[in-house]
Amino acid sequence: MAQRPPGPPAARTPTNTPDKKPDLLAPMRTVRFWVILAILFIANVVISNLAFSASQPPTVTISYNAFLDQVNAGNVVSVTSTGEAITGTTKNAVKDSSGTSSTKFQTQRPAFATDDLEAALQQHKVVINAKDPNPPPPVWLTLLSSFGPAILIVAAFLYFSRRAASAGAGGILGAFGQSRARLYDAERPSVTFEDVAGIDEVKADLQEVVDFLREPQKYQRLGGTVPKGVLLIGAPGTGKTLLARAVAGEAKVPFFSIAASEFVEAIVGVGASRVRDLFAKARAAAPAIIFIDELDAIGRSRAAALRIGGNDEQEQTLNQILTEMDGFDSREGVIVLAATNRADVLDPALLRPGRFDRRVTVQPPDRRGRAAILRIHTRKVPLAPDADLDQVASQTPGLVGADLRNLVNEAALGAARKGEAAVTMADFAEAIEKTLLGSERKILLSDQDRERIAFHESGHALLGLLVPGADPVKKVTIVPRGMALGVTLQSPVDDRFNYGEDYLRARMVGALGGRAAERLVYGVVTTGAENDLQQVTRIAHEMVVRWGMSPKVGPLNFSDGDGAMFQQRPYSEATASLIDDEIRRIAEECQAEAEKLLAEHRAQLDALARALLRNDSLDEAEILEVTGISSSQAKAPALPAPGDRGRG
Ligand code: ADP
Ligand code: MG
Ligand code: ZN
Repeated sequence: MAQRPPGPPAARTPTNTPDKKPDLLAPMRTVRFWVILAILFIANVVISNLAFSASQPPTVTISYNAFLDQVNAGNVVSVTSTGEAITGTTKNAVKDSSGTSSTKFQTQRPAFATDDLEAALQQHKVVINAKDPNPPPPVWLTLLSSFGPAILIVAAFLYFSRRAASAGAGGILGAFGQSRARLYDAERPSVTFEDVAGIDEVKADLQEVVDFLREPQKYQRLGGTVPKGVLLIGAPGTGKTLLARAVAGEAKVPFFSIAASEFVEAIVGVGASRVRDLFAKARAAAPAIIFIDELDAIGRSRAAALRIGGNDEQEQTLNQILTEMDGFDSREGVIVLAATNRADVLDPALLRPGRFDRRVTVQPPDRRGRAAILRIHTRKVPLAPDADLDQVASQTPGLVGADLRNLVNEAALGAARKGEAAVTMADFAEAIEKTLLGSERKILLSDQDRERIAFHESGHALLGLLVPGADPVKKVTIVPRGMALGVTLQSPVDDRFNYGEDYLRARMVGALGGRAAERLVYGVVTTGAENDLQQVTRIAHEMVVRWGMSPKVGPLNFSDGDGAMFQQRPYSEATASLIDDEIRRIAEECQAEAEKLLAEHRAQLDALARALLRNDSLDEAEILEVTGISSSQAKAPALPAPGDRGRG
């Protein structure tokens, strides 16, 4: 879905400059080379034949009876028979029918001849030689016929593969190994952050890169460290490529881009050579940006690649990227941006310090983000007064920037088809339907479903605020992401290595909050809480069998080590049922706590759900504002945990 920014067409860098490495096979790629080779070959054959015959006196052809006469006259010195053909030499020259005379002659003995030629020759003391009538071919012919086809095949292979490679690098004339990177007009960059919406956090992260590229000297003086490599991670169509271009546009620096997938099918060595060239050009043009799109195409973990047989070209290209990134200092003014939608499969070597050590996640936009993106793409589209972009945004959860651009396009096309002067809300409604139905990965949620999800997530979020010991709630969203219909993001204040029982209970209460909210509001529960229940079960189980947090089971650790493999339990049936009872008791206590707290704070739950339905997602400050809870406010009374409450 990559598209070029509007504006002047991308200028190609000259592609006929020679590669730094001498390319010994270069001449093989021209048609002229092959024509010359063919001419030389033919000339060689002709000349060697001519030379052979020139070194001999001419041979005259005489009739067989003339030959017999010469024998009987005693003029023949020697004969050589090759089957029926006879050649020989004479003392005095003999003449053929045309009058040419020579001491060398040839003749043909008829198959029907019954004369005793041998006796006659013996009688006149003629030297008799004989030759194999099917003589072995000359050495050059032997060599040619045995190696020729192989040489031809190899040469043809080289020719075509080189030609394919250079065609890939910009037509037949493109020099082999030359980077396909496009150099954009550094003076008039066409895309800026103005053209990117809905991902403000990412823009803020990249602003630093822009500032550095604008004034590298300032950073050098201050000794500031700037990342060499920034990896943009996000689903397709979320605007990663657009962002990379916008960084170059903002900083007004040249932008060198390359798609890693280009190397996958190329022959070994092309990728590495292009990467080398790309970095050399960018460094010469510094400050500049190098953009490697679809990094996962070559940057896949080598451990994983080995398993499926490996790929030399990917490996070499990847190694070249690593070498190049290690080989320069970011203070030179070159920053490498890369994009991927599969950060999980990337080779760890790429993520090491000094390489892509800065990672920026590009999330799908929330409702406000979608509205802003729609506004960008409708800048040049006449809108009817009833066209409400905010409403369009609220009806399109899950759509990313590229989808929204298509949506606008679709709506404008629909309006044009109907001959309307401006795009109406009805056009948008049709386009939404088309876009959502056309892409299976999108979930078309009914208003009812959205509301239920909003209450579910609000339940999680509110309990995260209310229960003492819970991790602070950073964000809550009902934008579908992957398998999840909504997400409540809670992150610990700092890294924890030791969990208190109250923290674990807070986690379980919070996890049960989604289900509890649904039950409170609708009176029934749905299947949407499967994950939550898995979490609760796991925590309660570990509390009982691993961390000795059940007074009835006691301070014992039954965690199954290797024994699990053999289905052995290191405890009795009686203990097993006690463990089950305790796990259930703990989970049920947490559920009761969740339901009680939500019932007590129903007004805040409703406010949160309403705000979510309006905005799709809320950050920490907005959550606190909507619920009226200040972060420092004392939370609800600690929930009573039976037995010893000492920290584990
Ligand atoms: P990615 O590289 O993440 O797959 P692209 O950058 O190629 O996505 O996005 C394709 C197009 O979708 C962009 O050129 C732009 O027109 C539109 N688009 C995507 N994200 C945004 C956004 N956040 N703001 C504005 N337009 C966007
Ligand atoms: Mg892209
Ligand atoms: Zn949930």
